[in-house]
Amino acid sequence: ATPLAVAAGIQRAAESGVVVASETVFEVLPDVDTVALDKTGTLTSGEMTVTDVAVADGDETRLLARAAALERYSNHPIADAVVAFAGGEGVRPVPGGEPATDGGEPAGATATGRDAAAWDDPAASVDVRPTGVVGDVDGERTVVGNHDLLDAEGIAVPEPFRERADAVAADGGVPVLVGWDGQFRGLLAVTDRPRDDWDETVRALADDGRSVVVLTGDEGAAAERFRDHPAVDEVFAGVPPDGKVAAIQRLRAQGTVAMVGDGDNDAPALAAADVGVAIAGSGGLAAEAADAVVTDGRLDAVPVLFDVATATRRRVR
Ligand code: ADP
Ligand code: MG
Repeated sequence: ATPLAVAAGIQRAAESGVVVASETVFEVLPDVDTVALDKTGTLTSGEMTVTDVAVADGDETRLLARAAALERYSNHPIADAVVAFAGGEGVRPVPGGEPATDGGEPAGATATGRDAAAWDDPAASVDVRPTGVVGDVDGERTVVGNHDLLDAEGIAVPEPFRERADAVAADGGVPVLVGWDGQFRGLLAVTDRPRDDWDETVRALADDGRSVVVLTGDEGAAAERFRDHPAVDEVFAGVPPDGKVAAIQRLRAQGTVAMVGDGDNDAPALAAADVGVAIAGSGGLAAEAADAVVTDGRLDAVPVLFDVATATRRRVR
């Protein structure tokens, strides 16, 4: 039978918006030396917005239609931003035909999500990757993602756009690059705003004697701004999702590690940590891989969970 103290701990956690899925939380969380936090969707809100579009060949509608045609298959917060923006501009992604601008009701796209059924199916398969999305649109191999993905797809980013992408990153945004038919076609600037409670959260964890580490696939100011914070010990930038697992394993060689993440692509890292805590967001896989799930998106529930776990274990023992 579940000891009364554990039942009470589960209840207290629930009152703070955290669903405890495993008793590991009470057994291990008090011993955690290092808390590794994912950036996008965890330290940041995950509600991203497109703030700028730059096209290489002059047709913004086509760029948005192509990007949205692929992004509607991704769960990433960037994908939501791109689809919502295209919809808001009245752009309908119509793979296999000319992109339509209807100026009125944006078919299929809403501010918060999408309805794939409202759009024609794409001509061919779509490959959702950790660094972006690749697939056929209008019969042409189309790529939406970061520098690494365009590199891997053999698409060179021309110097002026490289500079523009750097400027977006220096500004704390994420440059989303678009190419098809082997050519670079343009970029979207997407903003990534830190959550209001990120500062007090990392301070509380550090005050509690834990080492705080940030893991992110991004580079530039979007990642570096977290490095200047006194409570942050280390920022690992430019880390692909499988690199997050490797980073967790390295940290585990030195002590007990909790990982806090949100996206589907954080699921392996959550599983690799001694304790995984998911911030409920767009993806369902992170929650499945986690020992605890923060249901209301409040990051400051994480230090509360540490307190609840410590108090609970004391009562159990
Ligand atoms: P983080 O580790 O900060 O949470 P992710 O690992 O989720 O970030 O993503 C890293 C980077 O990969 C993103 O900032 C973006 O450049 C790129 N990326 C991932 N998914 C997409 C997508 N669906 N569309 C465009 N870019 C993407
Ligand atoms: Mg993330």
